[in-house]
Amino acid sequence: MPGDYDIGYASPWAGADFSMGPITTKGKPLELETWPELERLARDKPEAGIHFQESIYYRRTKDLDNEKGRWFEGLLKEDNQFAKILPNYRILPESQLPADMDAAVSFTSVCINTALYLPWLASQCLKVGVIIRRGIVSHISEAAIFHHSGRPADAVVNCTGLSSLKLGGVEDRTLYPARGQIALVRNEPGVIVSSTGTDDGPDESTYVMDRAAGGGCVLGGCSLRDTWESQPDPNLAIRIMKRAIELCPSLVPPGKGIEGLSVIHHAVGLRPMRAGGVRIEKESIRSSDDEPITVVHNYGHGGAGYQSSYGAAKLAVTLVEEALQDQARS
Ligand SMILES: Cc1cc2nc3c(=O)[nH]c(=O)nc-3n(C[C@H](O)[C@H](O)[C@H](O)COP(=O)(O)OP(=O)(O)OC[C@H]3O[C@@H](n4cnc5c(N)ncnc54)[C@H](O)[C@@H]3O)c2cc1C
Repeated sequence: MPGDYDIGYASPWAGADFSMGPITTKGKPLELETWPELERLARDKPEAGIHFQESIYYRRTKDLDNEKGRWFEGLLKEDNQFAKILPNYRILPESQLPADMDAAVSFTSVCINTALYLPWLASQCLKVGVIIRRGIVSHISEAAIFHHSGRPADAVVNCTGLSSLKLGGVEDRTLYPARGQIALVRNEPGVIVSSTGTDDGPDESTYVMDRAAGGGCVLGGCSLRDTWESQPDPNLAIRIMKRAIELCPSLVPPGKGIEGLSVIHHAVGLRPMRAGGVRIEKESIRSSDDEPITVVHNYGHGGAGYQSSYGAAKLAVTLVEEALQDQARS
């Protein structure tokens, strides 16, 4: 639940920003539907804990010939999909590139203070009369009888993230974790910065995200496939902090290294990756007493669950409405 910090709940650990990466696809890219809503919240709803940030994404000269570097090439084309979505998208001139960087793009993004945003979302539900209950289900069909009315629900929406790997009735073996480790610091660079690679291996990355409303600044990171370890690795923590300062020197006072960081905590979150990408799909399953139950799945958002959230939710709502119409007809 919002307010909990648990390894089985990825959302609190995210930066979270709207950034470059392969855009989630399911028909229309989900990000296309999501950006306008995040932009509206950042503009009109300060209580949601989302603010606009200038975001700079660098390609290191060392990455020119690797997969990430080649992928970056697409960002330098004027008609690329991010340039169409994100305001103030531009290619930085060479004169503004730090040493060791070959190219960079800059754009307006948002950074979400997840510690404020997740409880705010729960409050939005309460405001419109949603009854929230806490519980663990071992089989997806149990969710239908968990409904507060005491009657089975007409439809179940399954948003259990990585847990759909083991959840009875779902057991989606294409899910796997990508472990992300972060340091949350009090320093406020007032910008989002990231780069294509690191000297510490392809599983590690460097990003700096300054959250809204005193939420601290998130330094990352890594993406370790099939790694379930919930405790931060202290050596990785040092590498993350050093790299963040190299990439974004304004994080710390001049002349300072990691001793210039004021650390709130080091933490780990598991991204709910799925081999085939996100699953937003309707399915009819059978309860233990052989009753049909409509389930709409919405899980497997990997490292892009915030930036695809409203697009994904819209699709899931459409599927629920279709299911209810089918039920009304039969
Ligand atoms: C370090 C890190 C950085 C990230 N940065 C970004 C970013 O900058 N931008 C971005 O867009 N995304 C980012 N992500 C990805 C994003 O956080 C996830 O895609 C997203 O949070 C997934 O949300 P979810 O609701 O699907 O899953 P979760 O947040 O994991 O929620 C699953 C929920 O299901 C519940 N649940 C599970 N099993 C059961 C059960 N059996 N019974 C009852 N309840 C159950 C859990 O308790 C939990 O509440 C990042 C992730 C990490 C780890």
